[in-house]
Amino acid sequence: MYKITLIPGDGTGPEITEAVVRVLEATGVPFEWDVQNAGEDVYKEEGSPLPDRVLESIKKNKVAIKGPITTPVGKGFRSVNVTLRQTLDLYSCVRPCKIYKGARTKYKDLDLVIFRENTEDLYAGIEYEKGSDGAKAIIDVVQKMSDRVIRPDSGISIKPISVFGSERIVRAAFDYARKNGRRKVTSVHKANIMKFSDGLFLDVSRDVARDYPDIEFEDRIIDNMCMQLVQKPELYDILVLPNLYGDIVSDLAAGLIGGLGLAPGANIGGEYAVFEATHGSAPKYKGLNKVNPLAMMLSGVMMLRHLGEKEAAVKVDNAIASLIEEGKDVTYDMKPTPDDPTAATTSGVADAIIAKIT
Ligand code: NAD
Repeated sequence: MYKITLIPGDGTGPEITEAVVRVLEATGVPFEWDVQNAGEDVYKEEGSPLPDRVLESIKKNKVAIKGPITTPVGKGFRSVNVTLRQTLDLYSCVRPCKIYKGARTKYKDLDLVIFRENTEDLYAGIEYEKGSDGAKAIIDVVQKMSDRVIRPDSGISIKPISVFGSERIVRAAFDYARKNGRRKVTSVHKANIMKFSDGLFLDVSRDVARDYPDIEFEDRIIDNMCMQLVQKPELYDILVLPNLYGDIVSDLAAGLIGGLGLAPGANIGGEYAVFEATHGSAPKYKGLNKVNPLAMMLSGVMMLRHLGEKEAAVKVDNAIASLIEEGKDVTYDMKPTPDDPTAATTSGVADAIIAKIT
């Protein structure tokens, strides 16, 4: 029996989660779900969007699967998703981007894996509001230490990138490459402009690459990388990126494989693992039983592999592949037009997958 922390999330999270749980249970792998709500509604009820009980549950069970959680823009509570990754030191965000036959894509073949650093960079949450004491102090220090003037009406976000943080994510990418018979790792940065943060990430990438002579290594500047991913994505295999670029390129890559409805992910640290789709809570579709559960279902497949349940993982993955290839029981985002009347519902997709695996 696997005891797993289950965070349904908010927005469309609960309906997607329900579909995924039904599929995971249909594999016959025994699960006991430790359901822990977090997010907007919990904030209203408990005063925190991420109460300690959620973190304690993950610490106890070591493995969690979660639906998306809304983050207020520009105000309100800090992102639950980011806090979870930082507090549990889930430093590796692993996002496979594979084209399944039958998905509506501009390309035929693609099989990329993105390794996004999950704890540092502009996501560190070290920010000072315009006019605050912190902002003023930093403006003063910068003026004293360099000839640079920061305008007094500036808000400030700090971008820390460390040797420790960079080394472990780059190593995770190379270890994955080795273990999974991959050929190449590409380190992505803007070292020409941010010499001491992205430059450090690149230097560390080069150092780590020397320990893996069997895997090809190259680097790309982020802007060029985006252009190349759109023009010739087949040239790439594993990408390793600092946090912010990893976030943006993940959505770009999701677009290449048929949309966010198909892009799974895992946040993995030394002790704990939290599985979740790349997409957010898509709140405008909340309660409509409409959005695609496949991204979270594929995250569930990653969880099964993580637990060592390879047979069940392959079974669900094959069922998803066959569902996509048939193109019948798929949600609106995978149909020729979004208003296609034959589109399946969120729960309908789960029913169709369960019919294939049982
Ligand atoms: P989003 O990913 O929720 O949605 C963007 C668009 O992508 C949607 O309008 C929809 O058209 C499409 N989409 C997303 N998921 C889909 C699915 N499963 N099936 C079909 N179509 C899908 O991004 P957003 O609108 O920028 O963010 C909404 C909220 O989610 C924000 O509060 C954001 O902070 C949060 N968010 C959470 C996570 C997370 O929980 N890890 C990740 C990203 C964003």
